[in-house]
Amino acid sequence: EAKASGRNRVEVFAGELDQIVRERRSIEIDLRTALHDGTGLNLVYQPIFSSQSARILGAEALVRWDHPTKGRLSPDVFINIAEERGLIDNLGLWVLREAIGFVKHSTLPWVAVNVSPVQFRDPRFADEVFALLKDLAVTPERLELEITEGLLLQNSQSVQHTLRRLRQHGIRVALDDFGTGYSSISYLRTYGVDKLKIDQSFVAQMGIDMEVDSIVRSIIDLARAMRMKVTAEGVETEQQRTALTDLACDQLQGYLLSRPVTADRLEELIEEADWAKAG
Ligand code: C2E
Ligand code: MG
Ligand code: MG
Ligand code: MG
Repeated sequence: EAKASGRNRVEVFAGELDQIVRERRSIEIDLRTALHDGTGLNLVYQPIFSSQSARILGAEALVRWDHPTKGRLSPDVFINIAEERGLIDNLGLWVLREAIGFVKHSTLPWVAVNVSPVQFRDPRFADEVFALLKDLAVTPERLELEITEGLLLQNSQSVQHTLRRLRQHGIRVALDDFGTGYSSISYLRTYGVDKLKIDQSFVAQMGIDMEVDSIVRSIIDLARAMRMKVTAEGVETEQQRTALTDLACDQLQGYLLSRPVTADRLEELIEEADWAKAG
């Protein structure tokens, strides 16, 4: 009995696995088409606010994919498939070109773009970014790149070189989801970044878990000591906003302030925020 049901479980599991593999394969094929035809991919922009005023300092570009049959897909569904199937360089370049093209014609001071570690490790990456900025005649100060801690862990000469070249060129680099990886102070000193983004899992526990309050305070102190800016991600409540402002966290981002919006809506929000400040 037990043996039979055990075998059944294995078969069910194998069937599910097969289903997952087929699903990923179909997403890969459709993504290739989307990249080739330039259809279905979109960027939304989530504004990043100064904690000290209502001002919008910049915005983070977040990719969306309007799939022909599955509807709007979130990056969590397709980024890692793109990474595994060799499509991330194309996708990443598409995102960069679109975001830089947007900021060029916008009153937004700067745009932040997420960069996959796979893309960042390509030795051609920095030159590709410089070429895009030059082609579109956008100054490097208007671009920020978000990378994750895992990239720094590999202690690679090529990653270090790329990071240094980007920053020497005037492009800012932020460490995304900070606190969830394994960065150490020594990595931060070796590599050098311009900003830490406190992961939303910490922000969510502020005021609930006193240990988390201390961690957030420490990250903000660390950033200040190393002359980095600090952004809190995933700010959803008034209490979180107040606590972060009291801790002198520089920048705030989250649903409380604004969800990710279309480019047109972002322009309206910038105007409204400017009016609020003037009035
Ligand atoms: P991330 O860079 O850490 O982006 C923050 C994510 O949190 C976004 O999800 C955003 O919509 C969401 N978020 C913002 N405020 C709040 C909030 O107050 N509460 C909650 N619960 N969530 C909030 P999204 O757009 O689904 O992106 C997920 C992840 O996908 C991003 O995390 C980033 O790692 C990756 N991603 C997005 N766009 C790109 C891209 O163009 N290229 C690459 N390589 N990765 C991207
Ligand atoms: Mg990000
Ligand atoms: Mg993040
Ligand atoms: Mg994240």
